[in-house]
Amino acid sequence: MIKYQKSVIVTKEEIETAVNGLAKQLNDKYKGKEVIAIGLLKGAFVFMADVIRQLDIDVQVEFLIVKSYKNGRTNGKPQIVLDLKKGITEKNIVIFEDIIDTGRTLAAVKEYLKYKGAKDVEIAALLTKPSRREVVVDIDYSLFTIPNEIVVGYGLDYNEYGRQFSNIIALNDAGIEELKE
Ligand code: 5GP
Ligand code: MG
Repeated sequence: MIKYQKSVIVTKEEIETAVNGLAKQLNDKYKGKEVIAIGLLKGAFVFMADVIRQLDIDVQVEFLIVKSYKNGRTNGKPQIVLDLKKGITEKNIVIFEDIIDTGRTLAAVKEYLKYKGAKDVEIAALLTKPSRREVVVDIDYSLFTIPNEIVVGYGLDYNEYGRQFSNIIALNDAGIEELKE
């Protein structure tokens, strides 16, 4: 039992099945085309690593760091703190995001990539919390809809706690309090 675990929200088996399904969809959709997979660090690194290893299309990998969170709360203004290494003019992009909460991060990133000249920008989200949405985002691939809990595991953290867990778990109140920065 993990110390700060309240409940298991998504098991590693459920993740594996959903990741396989997503890879298959991407292989079908982008057959014969080039794609740039852009992972939003740090939270999406495990998710993206698992998906891309099942792609048989021509894929390149980039990362963005967008910051807006502290203690599980958004300050509402996402900022890009690590930028792309290469141009993306006329490229097909798939953004990999760990969780879509208010939607502000994704809305800002999508606008930024369009501004940089991307041809097409799709969004693959591991998790979504629709009850928290503040701006409309068009999610092309959404693997799991979850309740309004603070979740960690499979790459997601709460103040750097929990990224290594293979299940996605909800934090209990003690964890939320004791791990606060
Ligand atoms: P949004 O801009 O949609 O509100 O925020 C999305 C970002 O918030 C995600 O990339 C993620 O880093 C963070 N986030 C939102 N809810 C959670 C949560 O329950 N757990 C974790 N670990 N991160 C969250
Ligand atoms: Mg994130």
